[in-house]
Amino acid sequence: MIIPITKRRKTQAIAIGGVQVGGSNPIAIQSMCDTKTEDVEATVAQILALEGVGCEIIRVAIPTKEAAQALPLIKEKIHIPLVADIHFRSDLALLALENGADKIRINPGNISDKNLLRQIIDSANKHNAAIRIGVNAGSLEQDLWDKYDAPTAEALAESALNWVKFFENENFNQLVLSVKSSQVPTMITANEILATQTNYPLHLGVTEAGPPPAGSIKSAIGIGSLLQKGIGETIRVSLTADPVEEVQAAKEILKSLKLYDKEPDIVSCPGCGRTEIDIQKLTQQVQEMVARLNLQKPYRIAVMGCVVNALGEAKEADFAIAGGQKQGNLYYQGELYKGNIPEKELLKEFEELILQKIR
Ligand code: SF4
Repeated sequence: MIIPITKRRKTQAIAIGGVQVGGSNPIAIQSMCDTKTEDVEATVAQILALEGVGCEIIRVAIPTKEAAQALPLIKEKIHIPLVADIHFRSDLALLALENGADKIRINPGNISDKNLLRQIIDSANKHNAAIRIGVNAGSLEQDLWDKYDAPTAEALAESALNWVKFFENENFNQLVLSVKSSQVPTMITANEILATQTNYPLHLGVTEAGPPPAGSIKSAIGIGSLLQKGIGETIRVSLTADPVEEVQAAKEILKSLKLYDKEPDIVSCPGCGRTEIDIQKLTQQVQEMVARLNLQKPYRIAVMGCVVNALGEAKEADFAIAGGQKQGNLYYQGELYKGNIPEKELLKEFEELILQKIR
């Protein structure tokens, strides 16, 4: 069951291409390509792979004219909104918008001339594109450095809010905001401040989180604690890894908070001295089987080494296995479905049970 929207912060919905972010919409999962954007073939291949695992919005770097000019070629082959990541160069922001970017991510503090920002706003209006104001420590304005002496949560939030005022004064409100930090407590507090002072959708992420598992854990703590408070409308887990892992980690964060209903949640016990089956192998096989069956519903699937906790888990689960002595029982919605199945037949019988019940 997805957490009702009433428990989430009220925000305005912003259209990013065909995906709405904020309002009553589900939390959108984003990632970013690590290909050269102008290498259209490689970029499209990566985006299609990301779409396949559940990425809903994709961002690409636009460091050159060639990258911006590749956007239409990429867009025609993908199925999710395309976001252009801009740093410093307003000319590239304009070129990306002309070439069909559904949203641009800029750090306004990196574009010092406000007239250039006004040109970007005009172009975003003309092309129906959204803008993410992405603030981080590197672009903190000098007056905020003077005031706070460091890129504190308060400083980052104030910077973002100052830019919101600028964009609103220019009559532009198709905004998404992000304040990212590699320091998890800073990122959490900065977003909490923003959440009390604006109703624009917030894009959550712990920047430079590092490789998994540390990067996934930092992201889960930062993003997860905010989501649990109803804050955050779109998320990106930044990992020094294949972006597919970012999307998988993002889905697990959402699933753990009951905020994702497009695939099952697998629970499994760690195994202990009571375990008489190969719980690690069986869990791995169940994961692969669930992925292969492409079950697009939030079934709860439990794989337990013995009956000690299995009966409790089985009651909560749609489908459950409880191991025994080289054998196991299968449960469906809390009821014993079949008992004493030899270990080597458990997986096959479990798959048959799932297929039978989802038909
Ligand atoms: S469910 Fe059973 S096998 Fe698994 S950890 Fe608990 S006691 Fe051990």
